[in-house]
Amino acid sequence: MLSTVIVEDFLFAQHLTGPSHPESPFRFKVSRQALQNQGLLKRGGILRPRLAKESELLLCHTPCYLQEVQDNVQQCIYSGLKDGSFQLSTGDVQICPASEKIARYAVGAVLNAVDSVMLAQARNAFCLVRPPGHHACMDKGMGFCLYNNVAIGARYACQRYGLRKVLIIDWDVHHGNGIQDIFYEDPAVFYFSTHNKRIYPGTGSSQEEGRGAGKGFNLNFPIEPYENPRQKIKEIFSGQLMESMKSFQPEFIFIAAGFDAHAQDPLGGFNLTTHDFVDLTRSVKGLAEKYCEGRLVSVLEGGYNLEVLKEVIPAHVQGLLPP
Ligand SMILES: [Zn+2]
Repeated sequence: MLSTVIVEDFLFAQHLTGPSHPESPFRFKVSRQALQNQGLLKRGGILRPRLAKESELLLCHTPCYLQEVQDNVQQCIYSGLKDGSFQLSTGDVQICPASEKIARYAVGAVLNAVDSVMLAQARNAFCLVRPPGHHACMDKGMGFCLYNNVAIGARYACQRYGLRKVLIIDWDVHHGNGIQDIFYEDPAVFYFSTHNKRIYPGTGSSQEEGRGAGKGFNLNFPIEPYENPRQKIKEIFSGQLMESMKSFQPEFIFIAAGFDAHAQDPLGGFNLTTHDFVDLTRSVKGLAEKYCEGRLVSVLEGGYNLEVLKEVIPAHVQGLLPP
């Protein structure tokens, strides 16, 4: 039986973000070690990422922005700041001389995962990548994100395989403003997000529903931290998400899988447990089975408590595996 493939590479521990930054290389290291300890790398197999081509980055980013990133890398090298304490000119993204290349591999990890699932070599996939992607907009990086890994994956799936209905479920505690912006007028990609209403980046109100042909294909659920988010999110996943997919009927599903909605996360302010993430994983897997023969690619976004990552990432992958 086809299983869950994990896309990873030690390269993802070489994107440096400076001293004591929450989006640190340890996120990759501890998560990979935990997957290995539980035998999960062997079970579904490992897939290596590839370097995404410029034409693939251009599926979601402007030529100007790509040039700006290249220029920034050069400035970073000249500055001598090699430990990740150099900041990208467009926003709050720490980079080191290798970051641009590593970010391309993070995109390429998602593209390889899409190929593997579309060609039925894997049932589904989890991409253990960094830097994360969901805040990266067409023309600017921000919020620790350089290139929009999931968005590029979604557009690639449409172009390469002729898909017309792709669903992105973003359960990271922050709103994925980059994904929303990129697909705001595009009816081929449905963006669905639950997030903390009171924190970064401040977008994601329920009135933001898409524009033009994309109207109705963007669904935001901003949640107040005091509203018992774990209960609310469960209700939204079993209610509005299922309901809206009856008419959309996705052909492929992505998860922008941030784990910073966990109760012990230092940035999130929500109260989910590891078991809640397993439930969410299973409900998305159920959707994929119902509508698209199980085609599902999950991609790491945020999640900043290393002890939580050790537990929640293997649990998420267990949830993706066949019973
Ligand atoms: Zn986040």
